[in-house]
Amino acid sequence: MKELQDLYINDLQISVKAQKHVNDAHNLITEAFDRVENIEEYHQGNIIRCMKQCQISERHFNPSTGYGYGDDGRDTLEKLYAMIFGAEDALVRPQWGSGTHVISDALFSLLRPGDAFISAVGQPYDTLNDIIQSLKEWGIEYNEVELTSEGSVNLQGILECIKNNKNIKLVLIQRSRGYSWRQSLSIDEIEKIIKAVKKQNPNIYIMVDNCYGEFTEYMEPCHIGADLCVGSLIKNPGGGLAPTGCYAVGTKEAIEKLSFRLTAAGIGREVGSYAAGYRAFYQGLFMAPHIVGEAIKGAILTAKLFEDLGYEVLPKWDEQRSDIIQSIKFNDDKALIEFCQGIQWASPVDGHVVPYPWDMPGYEHQVIMAAGTFVQGASIELSADAPIREPYIAYLQGGLTYSHVKLALMVVITRLAEKGYIVI
Ligand SMILES: *Cc1c(COP(=O)(O)O)cnc(C)c1O
Repeated sequence: MKELQDLYINDLQISVKAQKHVNDAHNLITEAFDRVENIEEYHQGNIIRCMKQCQISERHFNPSTGYGYGDDGRDTLEKLYAMIFGAEDALVRPQWGSGTHVISDALFSLLRPGDAFISAVGQPYDTLNDIIQSLKEWGIEYNEVELTSEGSVNLQGILECIKNNKNIKLVLIQRSRGYSWRQSLSIDEIEKIIKAVKKQNPNIYIMVDNCYGEFTEYMEPCHIGADLCVGSLIKNPGGGLAPTGCYAVGTKEAIEKLSFRLTAAGIGREVGSYAAGYRAFYQGLFMAPHIVGEAIKGAILTAKLFEDLGYEVLPKWDEQRSDIIQSIKFNDDKALIEFCQGIQWASPVDGHVVPYPWDMPGYEHQVIMAAGTFVQGASIELSADAPIREPYIAYLQGGLTYSHVKLALMVVITRLAEKGYIVI
């Protein structure tokens, strides 16, 4: 057997100093793992409860073809999602090709010409820009309420906006930080927005972009009154196994409207087959609480490491989390690129490939994306993205195992030290 030291130094290009540095950081953060494990255990138990109640069996994993009428695997998976996410109903479909796709369908399904909607937390995720433009072409008005200068929700601003525009039909809440330097919204904060908006006008839809947020806290947005909540299966709830697709959970009414947009009015949820079968979606959902826990532990370690090296990080290692993203402010484009290339180098797939900044569809700036993943682009697997714009922030997320994240950080620390960006 190769000694670990020998493996690290000779095969994985990890310096002795970097090993020690990362191991020391690990030893200082284990107290923060307790909360992560409590949440994981709660969701694991709840998912088993729901799977038993739905009497999940081998037959639910079967493939379907053609129209997919009466597809039991699909319909039961949707029932399971609704139960787990505290919603009346759900759609879980491989036909949605990305998170942006389901968000777009959700907005188009709930809004009509003459309506208006607002983002409650400032500018939303980059890829929504073109969707908002398209909605405007259909005569749908859009506004955003900025966060306060301290980065918290401007509840007064949201309520004023609603009072001044009777056409507002929907409030969009993005739970995760996405590509912006702000905290993710906790479930408590989301609940405050929902309560206040519904008190002023119960007919306004609350839609939550739940991408990266699933299973990071005890509750999900529909438990606290969201009408529609959507996310991607190649992020948290797919548990690293779901090969593609998205989910939507919400009220019966919202889900029916969305189903008419997913396929066609009148046909809705009744069609949609999947010849590859649903096993990976069920197993991925079962694995999701653990995988999310591993990813969060990796994020906590990343935060501690870079905090101690003098970088500004968000969130700090011991702060509560409502998504799996860890932001690190590099203030230097070359160090940022070195960081992302190090993450890619330590990947199980395409570890021999070097990522460079590139123009990506839907993004305003060039973006560098490190993702050596089994499922293409799956950011529940260890990945790092960064738009190349000041102050050069890396967004690290995912990690199917904590050990992989730890090892990748050792590689990154070695490389950053060799190039002189850090001193350890
Ligand atoms: C990932 C993500 C999306 C959707 O992104 P896709 O790349 O289209 O899957 C939207 N909002 C947030 C906050 C996200 O993290």
